[in-house]
Amino acid sequence: MVENFSKKIGELARIIGGGKVFCIVAHTSPDGDAVGSCVGMREYLKAMGKDARIVLPDRFPDFLGYLDPGGEILLYDADREAGDAAVLSSDVVICMDCNSFSRTDHMEGVLKKAAARKILIDHHIAPDTASFNLIFSGNHVSSTCELAYYILKALCADGFPGLPAMTAEALFTGMTTDTNNFANSTYPSTLAMASELLAAGVDRSALLNRLYNQFSEGRLRLIGELLHDGMKIVDGKFSYMLLPKGLQRMYGYSKGDVEGVVNRPLEIRDVLVSALFTEDDDFVRVSLRSKPWVDVNLLAREYFNGGGHMNASGGRLKMDIADVPEYFENAIRRYAMQAHLL
Ligand code: 5GP
Ligand code: MN
Repeated sequence: MVENFSKKIGELARIIGGGKVFCIVAHTSPDGDAVGSCVGMREYLKAMGKDARIVLPDRFPDFLGYLDPGGEILLYDADREAGDAAVLSSDVVICMDCNSFSRTDHMEGVLKKAAARKILIDHHIAPDTASFNLIFSGNHVSSTCELAYYILKALCADGFPGLPAMTAEALFTGMTTDTNNFANSTYPSTLAMASELLAAGVDRSALLNRLYNQFSEGRLRLIGELLHDGMKIVDGKFSYMLLPKGLQRMYGYSKGDVEGVVNRPLEIRDVLVSALFTEDDDFVRVSLRSKPWVDVNLLAREYFNGGGHMNASGGRLKMDIADVPEYFENAIRRYAMQAHLL
């Protein structure tokens, strides 16, 4: 999972033991894995008697609200001063679910400047090793939550207190959302963790109900529209969908509403790559998915200013959403030649 795991656990235990104030951060547009891993870590640190706070670059989707019932999570774009103070006053910064501070967007500057010890816990490839004092980076895990689980479990075995119930629930959340409810990136260690957490009392059916059955009617109709009229297929193999502001307004779209929809075109036998382009305030958010043998991480790096995992990546385009179809068609055809997909 992680090289020198036990040696690193010892080092982590020493850093935690020596620190009083902790600041936990994750990537911009935080998803279930980002929020879940941060909350799981914070609750553990609190149980250890530490002062621990989460600062996220921006808002997470509403359906994850149960992970922050007291509204304790600081949102950097809403209160930059408080966010800077939390980062700069901490002894230890723990960066979850992003392989470099640049993935935290406008928090990058203050995170780089902070004098704190810096720890990375993440499951993306190519971690920015220069920016951290201690790195837990594993590619063969479902999620950052899974990595965090094995780290916290090892700390508990080292004489630390057991996992708080909120940590178990938060980590189960990220493992569920990052695997698309155990459909992708599910390793033996993933199912072992699921089994252990269920045995420890996590109520999975309540959790699935919160994650998947609490949306608005408009959100399901929007998904219907995207799949019925919106989905276009290039050369029979490469699907894309656009979600411009106009469509977002029409259906009362809010962040996270179309989570998972980008996977659906892969259900078509010949479709190898699926892309979703969501118009944001000053850029277009890119979401890419692929069949297991096709690498969209490279595609995201080369053509969409991003990266991620082999079968699930993302990025950003600075262009009018109306120009995206032509850009996508050119990019995917060039990439298909490069990667011998045609
Ligand atoms: P999603 O499509 O769910 O937004 O993102 C899928 C994966 O792509 C994420 O887990 C993350 O690893 C990666 N990703 C998404 N957006 C970006 C981005 O702007 N830059 C990079 N480097 N990776 C991204
Ligand atoms: Mn993740």
